[in-house]
Amino acid sequence: MFKARLSVVCGRVQPRRAKPSVAAARTFTSSAPRSKQRLVILGSGWGGYEILRAIDKKRWNVTMVSPTNAFNFTPLLASCAVGTLEFRCVVEPVRRFSPQVVCYQAWCDTIDFKQKTLKCMPATAPLEFEGSASARLAGTTTKETSYPPGTGNAFNLRYDKLVIAVGAYSQTFNVPGVKEHAHFLKDVRDARAIRTRIIDCFEQANQPVLSDVQRRNLLNFCIVGGGPTGVEFSAELHDLLHAEIERHYPSLARMAKITLYDVAPNILGSFDKSLGVYAENKFRRDGISIKTRHHVERVEKDRMFVKEQGEVPFGLLVWSTGLAPNPLIQSIDSLEKHDKTQGLFTDQNLNVITKEGHADPDVWAIGDAANIKGQLHPATAQVANQKGKYLAQKLNKIVKDQEHTKPFEFHNQGSLAYLGDWKAIYDRSSADTVKTKETGRVAWLLWRSAYFTMTLSIRNKILVPTYWFLNWIFGRDLTRF
Ligand code: FAD
Repeated sequence: MFKARLSVVCGRVQPRRAKPSVAAARTFTSSAPRSKQRLVILGSGWGGYEILRAIDKKRWNVTMVSPTNAFNFTPLLASCAVGTLEFRCVVEPVRRFSPQVVCYQAWCDTIDFKQKTLKCMPATAPLEFEGSASARLAGTTTKETSYPPGTGNAFNLRYDKLVIAVGAYSQTFNVPGVKEHAHFLKDVRDARAIRTRIIDCFEQANQPVLSDVQRRNLLNFCIVGGGPTGVEFSAELHDLLHAEIERHYPSLARMAKITLYDVAPNILGSFDKSLGVYAENKFRRDGISIKTRHHVERVEKDRMFVKEQGEVPFGLLVWSTGLAPNPLIQSIDSLEKHDKTQGLFTDQNLNVITKEGHADPDVWAIGDAANIKGQLHPATAQVANQKGKYLAQKLNKIVKDQEHTKPFEFHNQGSLAYLGDWKAIYDRSSADTVKTKETGRVAWLLWRSAYFTMTLSIRNKILVPTYWFLNWIFGRDLTRF
């Protein structure tokens, strides 16, 4: 069961990478026998990783290109960011499938649909870079992306069939300073950076030389974006403050404040109205301040400027205001795109559509980077994963020369959001069949069982409940990483 997101959710903001100063890109074919058809999957997220899991690896010559060598289980990232779960619980390594599958930790920068080639840039630290491991990371990553931005020698790959599953980036609405000074929550590295920052704020505020005003500023936690990601992170942070922080930093806990900002009149706009009101009431009772109809105009180091409020100092700012198109998708001009989301249009079999209106039989697009023409599916893991499953079935038939003409059908399994203190909301009111709404402890039980069920590997099926249990007994770990 997945949480469907009708409002856009945050995606990774990655800076536009400078054009590589590389001479000619080298062309590679994969090492698997040429007799098999080459299937290239771009992206190891909810869509791409599902295909990787389910594809017939004996019949296809599969190559995965992704700047990260792991799949991120996004629904549990907010829990990781506050230590309710450990980082290991929310990732699945892509390498699990190698050497059967060839994996390149790289960015795909250009697709030539006529020649059926891809131009890729390694997303690893450059070979010539000297220095310690941390210096290497610091030198090749930026605050917006914890992955090296594309370094070294470009290379080309050929494909027979291509799946585009590159997701989307975070929307910043070009608010100055967001990329430099805010935290995003898209993958496990972001979760780790946020967790470190939270503990930093308390340790800094604990120094005897600080004034109370400085302490309050450091312990002002601001979240911008009242969609499910912003709400769940606020709830998880509230749990942390009212458990371990209250126990270990009692006087500082009283100074800490959580504020959730949104430009819309209500939070959780994608949920049934009554559930949004339930969430707002719960947050108000818990002391989480909700500032709807508020516009952040500029962000600087440790402060932001809000139209309705003026200058707001903060210790941590988490930004989660929706999706912006992936630059790879932006760079494609030969295919039809959705006017608003700028995602690639596909037909009901998920094949991309050329500007001339023909479906390309060898290229499919799924997940947050794509929309079926004439249908509006939310940008969620639920949709990406169902499309991935559908496409893997189709490809497994294609490779056996069997027909697979059944169009993709989305089955809405409802929306869940955690609200803190073992309470949640569950919304299935937009589902076609059973219409249900649930709040409180029952919804929380649904939330936990849904994400436990969805967890992919046996290893994480053991780790996730183990950490839930350990942290319930011993409390969250406040070590700074
Ligand atoms: P992604 O999962 O984003 O994967 C994209 C992949 O492409 C990544 O591996 C990326 O590194 C790679 N990539 C990017 N650019 C390139 C390139 N140029 N070349 C090659 N690879 C590239 N949805 C729900 O349904 N329920 C939830 O509870 C839920 N919770 C969420 C919580 C958080 C914190 C976040 C951020 C999202 C959440 N979502 C949830 C939304 C869900 O995660 C996305 O809709 C889903 O990840 C989309 O899947 P995707 O495969 O299209 O993209």
